[in-house]
Amino acid sequence: MDNTLFDLSGKVAVVTGGNGGIGLGMAKGMANAGATIVVAGRDATKNTDAVKQLQALGAKASAIPVDVLKEDSCRALIADTMKAHGRIDILVNNAGMGIRKQPEQYTLTEWHTVLDSNLTSAFLCSHAAFEPMKKGGGGKIVNIGSMMSIFGAPFATAYAASKGGIVQMTKSMATAWAKDNIQVNAILPGWIDTALTRRAREQVDGLHNSVLKRTPAGRWGEPSDFAGIAVFLAAAASDFVTGAAITVDGGYSVLA
Ligand code: NDP
Repeated sequence: MDNTLFDLSGKVAVVTGGNGGIGLGMAKGMANAGATIVVAGRDATKNTDAVKQLQALGAKASAIPVDVLKEDSCRALIADTMKAHGRIDILVNNAGMGIRKQPEQYTLTEWHTVLDSNLTSAFLCSHAAFEPMKKGGGGKIVNIGSMMSIFGAPFATAYAASKGGIVQMTKSMATAWAKDNIQVNAILPGWIDTALTRRAREQVDGLHNSVLKRTPAGRWGEPSDFAGIAVFLAAAASDFVTGAAITVDGGYSVLA
């Protein structure tokens, strides 16, 4: 096999929400494949801790604080990455959150918070990364969707709208930027054990066991389950893969 297919040596990867959960799982995978990682989150303590974990793997890693709800912060993230490293090869738009409510209970502010955190942020960071990637000869953008990119749920109107939007945005950017050698793909995680779902499990009775029962693999996913797919979508191995939405869900979405 061609050993360079999955090699990320010399590549610079920015991971929003890379300071914990799925984002850190992907960052660790790419670090092990040789990439330099920029961890981009709000929480300074989590940022520092994630950088330490990545450096312990032998990776070059640093943190740039970002609030993806703010356009200037997203643009500064990409500009500061360029200042520090001179290039950006991989952008993982992973930062996200949810507000669980019946549709009629959302305020407009809550709706915008979810849409802006999960969807507009990915647009803004990709928009800012496009020119530097193009000038650098190409790039890889990985957007994080959800099972709510496919399904609906009574508590997930805003979240599902944002994650459905992620898939359609991914397809459109993929078609626009293929000529610039920028591949844009989405990962749709199933139910993964992170801070986000720990909160959901506290709020929703029986969630833990219903996910176990509904997932053919018979377990919740772990952040480390995202290391391999991140490396694939960041590496030369996926150079002819673009506009795809790949489920990483232990079979959750294909069980009849
Ligand atoms: P976490 O809560 O562990 O991670 C969310 C990350 O997003 C944190 O690192 C957080 O950083 C960051 N973040 C949130 N809002 C902002 C903001 N405004 N600016 C900067 N960073 C922000 O949860 P997960 O790892 O589970 O979630 C990661 C992604 O995976 C999300 O997009 C989520 O929707 C998606 N997902 C998760 C699933 C699961 O089962 N866990 C299933 C499907 C999709 P900080 O703490 O510093 O604010």
